[in-house]
Amino acid sequence: MSDHVPGAHGASINPALEDVRFCPRCGREAEVRFPRSISCGHCGYGAYYNPKPVACTIPRTASGDVVLLRRGFAPGKGLWTFPGGFVDLGESTEQAALRETDEELQLAVELGRLVGVYSRPDDRVVLVVYEALALGEPRTTPEAPEVRAFHPDDVPYEELAFWSTEAALRDLLGS
Ligand SMILES: [Zn+2]
Repeated sequence: MSDHVPGAHGASINPALEDVRFCPRCGREAEVRFPRSISCGHCGYGAYYNPKPVACTIPRTASGDVVLLRRGFAPGKGLWTFPGGFVDLGESTEQAALRETDEELQLAVELGRLVGVYSRPDDRVVLVVYEALALGEPRTTPEAPEVRAFHPDDVPYEELAFWSTEAALRDLLGS
């Protein structure tokens, strides 16, 4: 699944567990059920691995244009998408969506409705996408070297970074 979101990768659905054999707590051999879990029969340690939530916004201007950024980094470098990133422990998806939008576009937004949730069995992430109202002017950053507001009729569907980018934009715009 090379066509996915921040931090993605190449082949493995779970590189964190791929080559693990020993318990991280007691150091003895553990049972690894790739790609889902590790459990240790010696000390009782257990951990489960699940898809990671990624929180995103689709910022819109007062006139309804959609703010997209050209990705500065792989995967999808050079292609268009909306801001988003991994939800950290200790924050909600809404907080993560606001934080990521500020980090990538230096843009404050007001969250609107949930556009949709996007996942596939072979992806490591689950996208949670909110519509948002831009409260200022977005800026470029290393993560977003180009930023543009597109009229809904002019969204560059042929140059989007991920399948989920296209799905969410079509769900939002009914196009
Ligand atoms: Zn152990």
